[in-house]
Amino acid sequence: MSFESFVSSVQQLLPAERIITDDFRCFALGGDASCSALKPRAVLRINSEFEMSAVMRLARTHQVSLTFRGAGTSLSGQATGGSVLIQLTSAWNGHKVEPLGERVHLQPAVTCNEVNRLLAPYGRKLAMRVEPPAIATVGGLVANGALEIQGARLILADGSVVDSRDEQSVADFRLSQAELLAQLAELRREIVADAELVQEIQSDSAQQSRAGYRLQAFIAYEDPLEILFQLIAGSEGTLGFISEVAVATVDLPRHQAAVIAGFNLKTDYLNLVGSLQGFDLQRAEMIDASAIPAFKPQHELPVFAQQLNADGCLAFLEFRADTAQALQSDIDRFTAWLADSDCVGFSEFYQGASGISQCHSLASSLVNSVVAQRMAGTTPIYQSYAVPDTDFEPAFMQIKQWLTEFCCAGSLAWGDVTTGRIGFVVCPSFSSEADSESFVQFRQQVVALVQAAGGCLAADYGVGRLNAVAMQGIASNKKNSLLRALKSLLDPDCILNPGVILEDEGQPFQVSFKATPVVNAKIDACTGCGLCESVCVGRGLEFSARQKIAVYREIETRKEQKRELPKYWEDQFKTLALDSCVTTGLCQQVCPMGINTGQLVVSLRAIHNYRYQRLAWGCARHFAALSSWARGSLQLLTSLQRLFGAERVEAFSRRIRRLTGDRTPLLLSTTPGRSRPVYARNELINLGKENTVVYWPSCISQTFGKALADDRENIPAVVQRVLKKADLNVVHPQPTRGLCCGQTLAKKGFEAAGEHMLEELIAALWDISSAGRYPVLADTSACSLRVKQRALERGIHLYDSSEFIDKFLLNRLKLNPEEQQVAVHVTCSTRKLQAEASFYRVLNRLAPRWVEPEGIDCCGYSNEKGFVYPELSEQALKGLPAELKGCVYGVSNSRTCEIGLSRHSGLTYYSLFELLDRHSEALSEAHR
Ligand SMILES: Cc1cc2nc3c(=O)[nH]c(=O)nc-3n(C[C@H](O)[C@H](O)[C@H](O)COP(=O)(O)OP(=O)(O)OC[C@H]3O[C@@H](n4cnc5c(N)ncnc54)[C@H](O)[C@@H]3O)c2cc1C
Ligand code: SF4
Ligand code: SF4
Repeated sequence: MSFESFVSSVQQLLPAERIITDDFRCFALGGDASCSALKPRAVLRINSEFEMSAVMRLARTHQVSLTFRGAGTSLSGQATGGSVLIQLTSAWNGHKVEPLGERVHLQPAVTCNEVNRLLAPYGRKLAMRVEPPAIATVGGLVANGALEIQGARLILADGSVVDSRDEQSVADFRLSQAELLAQLAELRREIVADAELVQEIQSDSAQQSRAGYRLQAFIAYEDPLEILFQLIAGSEGTLGFISEVAVATVDLPRHQAAVIAGFNLKTDYLNLVGSLQGFDLQRAEMIDASAIPAFKPQHELPVFAQQLNADGCLAFLEFRADTAQALQSDIDRFTAWLADSDCVGFSEFYQGASGISQCHSLASSLVNSVVAQRMAGTTPIYQSYAVPDTDFEPAFMQIKQWLTEFCCAGSLAWGDVTTGRIGFVVCPSFSSEADSESFVQFRQQVVALVQAAGGCLAADYGVGRLNAVAMQGIASNKKNSLLRALKSLLDPDCILNPGVILEDEGQPFQVSFKATPVVNAKIDACTGCGLCESVCVGRGLEFSARQKIAVYREIETRKEQKRELPKYWEDQFKTLALDSCVTTGLCQQVCPMGINTGQLVVSLRAIHNYRYQRLAWGCARHFAALSSWARGSLQLLTSLQRLFGAERVEAFSRRIRRLTGDRTPLLLSTTPGRSRPVYARNELINLGKENTVVYWPSCISQTFGKALADDRENIPAVVQRVLKKADLNVVHPQPTRGLCCGQTLAKKGFEAAGEHMLEELIAALWDISSAGRYPVLADTSACSLRVKQRALERGIHLYDSSEFIDKFLLNRLKLNPEEQQVAVHVTCSTRKLQAEASFYRVLNRLAPRWVEPEGIDCCGYSNEKGFVYPELSEQALKGLPAELKGCVYGVSNSRTCEIGLSRHSGLTYYSLFELLDRHSEALSEAHR
């Protein structure tokens, strides 16, 4: 029995691509948001219950331990393991909402955001007080005790399956597992007979502790099977696998308000909260005022916040009421209460879902600002404890004091007296053993404090590995032996996440902390939280932004420390981390540290591609010829498609691609033919004429035309027709061909060559716009993003298509809006341009019944990426067709994105200009 024999048995069960054993990918996929440095020896991607059950049986036979993985956002190390990590494929994304939305059945890989999106039409949401990250999965939430269940389908360590919602399954289980259930019943008898133990368990339960197994189940239920189901929630993957759960939902709060108040003394705030009566308080969190100086930009904070002294706090109070009148009356009473209190000032009352989320985001930005300013090379560790309310203030003050003494940069405390929760983040350096030791001592102090106060560890973030030893120190001997008895009953061979919740006796957990090396200022602040994975197209296919950073750090550290660095690590890094990035920087928009991993990728590509510099310059200098060649190739492709059939050409190119190790592009049946470039001679146009506008057709729209099966036109032709219809005097930058913003080169790391092209373009725009006098229309959002700011610096006003239509065209045309439902894709560039508002305004006028599929952030196409790396857009858009019910076609504003969207949705995606052209006519002179 060995790890190797386990792997060879698994090879009989799973296809090779779902068994990962090379240390490079295991390293990348193994990290989570915690400070645990454990890395798996194998990662298995499991597709079905059958496979899961078989793998669990094999693990038991071969004595190999398993760690289940959701989104890997756990903060206490419970999602990391040193043996086999189990990832779930998208086959575990199933869900079913009951008719009124009051209950929902969920498979474990569905994320909490997805569930809330499903429930929104019913006016309901998941019943959770916590705010986990959007990508946290149902499996992770239940296993970490954040989500209560009403029923479950479980796989136990011996591979047996039981479903509490299925009578037959329950009856079979009672028969086949009679002995296990009898032993659970025996444990129950021992517990209820022990008054002291009952009291200890009930005290934990009163504090809503997430510190280990829900022993309260033994007191609340008699049926051992019911006890088993209750124990799974909060068991952190140590008692069984959660295959499906039934979860109750709650009404979306309709009448809620939040207010931020500042206090110079925390006692003033705590006194106020103590005296608040008659409010349905949902949150009463205070954040230590020491966070305020780190917050940027300061002007986004209420003015009173900037005046608080360092001992004060900012309070975030949230309450709700049954009716709008009741809410208003609560707001009035609250205002009077605050005005009478010692608060330094308070904000307006934020109302409705968007107001509440604005308030939440301010609170998390405060914490993130502090973490972002930690010293380079330190690792943030988040902890959450609970103490009785009588001890809240002294415990909070003591922890704050220790934080200051232990590590002043990057540490912060917050808490909510109504739940007794105290949270903090501390940022130790783990660059030496002494650092680790001093952090351990700091934690021991805190644990002793919580213990003395009769509080509980791991209030919100679970026990994990980090708190396992300390938690056993706090629990009575009786409770500890009960916990162990339970574990050995359900997992006798200790194969499920050993070392989590309970210290692994056979192999005590050596605290192995994740150091954060200083390698590159672009990403040094990364905490590994994983929030970027919600938008990253690399996730699930190759490496996500978080994984790119993790392996990059490791490679650089090994180089620095002159440790072994196999050549294949660097080769694989290029393929799995660099080539799989579309560099749109969407990750930056969700990263709490503001990191744009795309920028790191571009800078590393510059190093890798250095030897091709001359070629890049050649392309930049002869771009018109290159574009002609590209158009010629597309024309040739169309001819081949006509001759042999588009599907056959695709199948053939797929074979070639496989033979060349993915080095050749895939000639998709949907690859467009050539477009017709714009030939315009401006000298014939009267520049002095009123209503002159500049139209800059991007090289993309001058190159990519329509695919064989498309019923569409080339974009420049459509745009020119619309501009004519709107009676605008149109001029084009000269030359009309060969001008390009240079982003394809820049994204490949040829910054100087790309910059040269951008400068040429800006110079041409400056000339033709009469030094900025005429507005410039750019028809491709990705290009607008690159050019807009630089153009503005030269006084040129460049508008992306949606902005241009919104500002100059809607009121110059007679609109006949589309009556059918259309799908919309707002490109990431449009979002980065902050032009979504124009885009939606235009849609509201042109196709009011539009829908925007959720969860499709990036289409994975990004310039040529979609042609040379089609797997990326396949991955990014795989959920798209399910979201498009009832739509007749789609609309976007970037030609390459439209190509990818059309391919993967089954609908044709047109440009905004094509939509406008079809649904508008010229105004008569009288109307102008
Ligand atoms: C920035 C940030 C903020 C956070 N804020 C909060 C917060 O406000 N409140 C809060 O409660 N948490 C918070 N967390 C912690 C974390 O997001 C939650 O604990 C979440 O529930 C973890 O979900 P996950 O999908 O990432 O699970 P993972 O971290 O992947 O796994 C969590 C545990 O569940 C087990 N597991 C996963 N799937 C299964 C399964 N199918 N069957 C059995 N066991 C399984 C794993 O083995 C592991 O022990 C935060 C984390 C971050 C990074
Ligand atoms: S890049 Fe940002 S979002 Fe991604 S893991 Fe790092 S800190 Fe988190
Ligand atoms: S730029 Fe896009 S693909 Fe690249 S790491 Fe960021 S989100 Fe992922």
